[in-house]
Amino acid sequence: MSESQDKICVARGDGIGPEIMEATLRVLESAGAKLDVREIQVGAEVYRRGVTSGIDEDSWGVLMERPVLLKGPITTPQGGGVKSLNVTLRKALGLFANVRPCQSWAPFVRTAHPEMDLVIVRENEEDLYAGIEHRQTAEVTQCLKLITQPGSERVIRYAFAWARLHGRKRVTCMTKDNIMKVTDGLFRKTFNEVAREYPELESEHLIIDIGSARVATQPERFEVIVTPNLYGDILSDIAAEVAGSVGLGASANVGASGAMFEAIHGSAPDLAGQGVANPSGLLLAGVMMLRHLGQREAALAVDNAWRRTLEDGLHTADLRGAETRRVVGSAAFADAVIERLGEAPRRLKAASPGVGALAACVPTLERRPRPEKALVGVDVFVDWDEADRAPSALGERLTALAGSSLRLEMITNRGVQVWPRGLPQTVCTDHWRCRFRPVEGGATTHREVVALLERLSAAGVDFIKTEHLYTFDGAPGFSLGQGQ
Ligand code: NAD
Repeated sequence: MSESQDKICVARGDGIGPEIMEATLRVLESAGAKLDVREIQVGAEVYRRGVTSGIDEDSWGVLMERPVLLKGPITTPQGGGVKSLNVTLRKALGLFANVRPCQSWAPFVRTAHPEMDLVIVRENEEDLYAGIEHRQTAEVTQCLKLITQPGSERVIRYAFAWARLHGRKRVTCMTKDNIMKVTDGLFRKTFNEVAREYPELESEHLIIDIGSARVATQPERFEVIVTPNLYGDILSDIAAEVAGSVGLGASANVGASGAMFEAIHGSAPDLAGQGVANPSGLLLAGVMMLRHLGQREAALAVDNAWRRTLEDGLHTADLRGAETRRVVGSAAFADAVIERLGEAPRRLKAASPGVGALAACVPTLERRPRPEKALVGVDVFVDWDEADRAPSALGERLTALAGSSLRLEMITNRGVQVWPRGLPQTVCTDHWRCRFRPVEGGATTHREVVALLERLSAAGVDFIKTEHLYTFDGAPGFSLGQGQ
């Protein structure tokens, strides 16, 4: 154990947050954790004061000085103008990987899968959580899904390094690259590249839908799962429930210079103030934090005492089952763990000492050479609600405006091709993607694109956005229309 105290920030959070944080801090302190704690204010109270980020300037300052945070759950405010604090913290601290272990504690916690012991490594900064959303027409909204090469590589490398360090044998990637060939395709391609550097580890890819189904029905077959942000968010709640209770799930958000530890569950407003919530998710997040800080003895003591408490049948209400001797509240559960500090479990496996700082797996990425990029067309998105939305009418109008160097190649509506060929059954909205390509094939120029937009503008066509079509080293960087 390090002799000096580690400087950390604590945010108690909302709803059940203060109750489970109080229980957690008492256990950590009793186990001899050497922590210099500074409390920061985040969440509902701060939002109420009109701070739209949910964290005020003073707290930011403290967090920047000591970027290790143990955080209670936050109630996400409804309504426009406010930002999700969790997303802000993850991005501001560069916490790119969210590590979520899901283990079963049978027979003491009910589960159909006693052998389950998996870890989900969720990408934490990108994907639909970039939160770039627009309403573009009367009928259509969009959210941009951003998947980047360095973002994918960083989290995938982290997952492989974590697996190797912890003696795991297999890493599974889950995406929906059969549909999202460009974005999820990049994540999967990067996974395949990194996997080649870890020949001793088995690697596999599953489509996220069947992958999630398998996590629900055969979780014991998985060891480490790496996945983009949204899938990982959903999957880790499924996995925590399959393991026994969402109240048991802990997570570490990891970056190069900071880390944030929290339970995976939310602020459970239905339980707030009753003192009955399970503090285990936050407590086990605290154990991850102690291991990260190198305080292995304290981490081991808490982990083993916690396991022993489960074995002794002292359970919070969410864990009530055949092995429960007494249902206890959050504070009494903490007392029970404290009483058992120094004891080891008798039937459950004893905790492992851990392998130290989570940051040990953070990779340094090499800048890749930039590929040759060529502009080969443009998708112009148009708000159009005329002529009974007959695609042929829009097709004729835009063909006439395409000019001499560009031609209208296709129109899609919600991704489905409706012109030049389409099916009469396709229901069309007021949002049309119109693809223009060079007449001669090959490349075009920004100037030609701007001239096209000028013609559309002069003709009163309401274009709402453009997406350029590029090739990279000759390979198209865009998808075809469905049905094209
Ligand atoms: P929730 O996780 O708070 O609750 C879901 C269910 O699980 C509820 O029935 C609740 O009683 C139960 N539960 C949760 N934690 C428990 C515990 N420790 N012990 C026993 N039972 C527990 O999810 P929700 O109700 O969808 O969300 C409530 C609020 O929390 C929302 O504002 C949401 O945005 C927010 N949230 C915050 C975080 C976070 O801060 N990391 C994560 C998820 C949700």
